Amino acid sequence: MRKLVDSLLKQLQDPARWVALTGAGVSAASGIPTYRDHSGLWLGSQPIQHQEFIEDPSKRRRYWSRSVFGWPRVGQASPNTTHEAIAKLETCGVFSGVITQNVDRLHQSAGSHNVIDLHGRLDEVRCLSCRSITSRTEIQEWLETHNTLPEAASLQLRPDGDAELPLQWEQGFQVPECYECGGIMKPEVVFFGGSVPAERVEACYRLIDAADGLVVIGTSLTVYSGFRFCRYAYQQGKPLIILNEGETRADPLSRHRCDNNPFGVLIECANTLASHHAEDCHV
Ligand SMILES: [Zn+2]
Repeated sequence: MRKLVDSLLKQLQDPARWVALTGAGVSAASGIPTYRDHSGLWLGSQPIQHQEFIEDPSKRRRYWSRSVFGWPRVGQASPNTTHEAIAKLETCGVFSGVITQNVDRLHQSAGSHNVIDLHGRLDEVRCLSCRSITSRTEIQEWLETHNTLPEAASLQLRPDGDAELPLQWEQGFQVPECYECGGIMKPEVVFFGGSVPAERVEACYRLIDAADGLVVIGTSLTVYSGFRFCRYAYQQGKPLIILNEGETRADPLSRHRCDNNPFGVLIECANTLASHHAEDCHV
């Protein structure tokens, strides 16, 4: 372990400024299941597509009737020691910012300041007509008030925590509409088949431009929207470090990889650098 920590420390100090690119692996220890699908956490094997959500009222009913059970687990989750280590590394000046594929806002809860939520945020819901934003918590209250939810005990829970809902119940489910204009409400996340806003992608490139390298943490990068930043950094001649259990799509581009207890190694590094940083501040 010490050897792995020393080796990563050496990498992180040469060069000195990095951007972190994080994924579902980071939030797994907070009780949020790792899915390759970055947006439909509770949708089980059938992730919702952007276009069908927009066009098909029955798909929206399906989404909200499942999300009413899936959201509390995300809404009530707390950051874990990996989120905290990443925040510490920003405080120390090692990370200039975080690009995250997660939609749970746990980096912000852990104290990271410069975070780009690449795939959006699940704690907000937007009206597709007037663009107004409502908190997901408020929507949850509405859903619970306007629907008679079956007892959790009566639902068939799948190993992934998703619920198999009786179809009949799903059909009668009341779906929220915009309070202002009656428009379609959509969680502020990028669904499959949807696209990340161009200005957000651009902000990620600028963050990488201003840094010396990229550290990939807890993602296999199967989704192109995250992978493109590894390719970009590589093309700019900037080093890539990968901290992930298992292979990633960017492995061939990396300068350094750690797949043996990668989060433990990162946490140790963060603690070491934070204590150096605290000493420097006292001088
Ligand atoms: Zn509206």
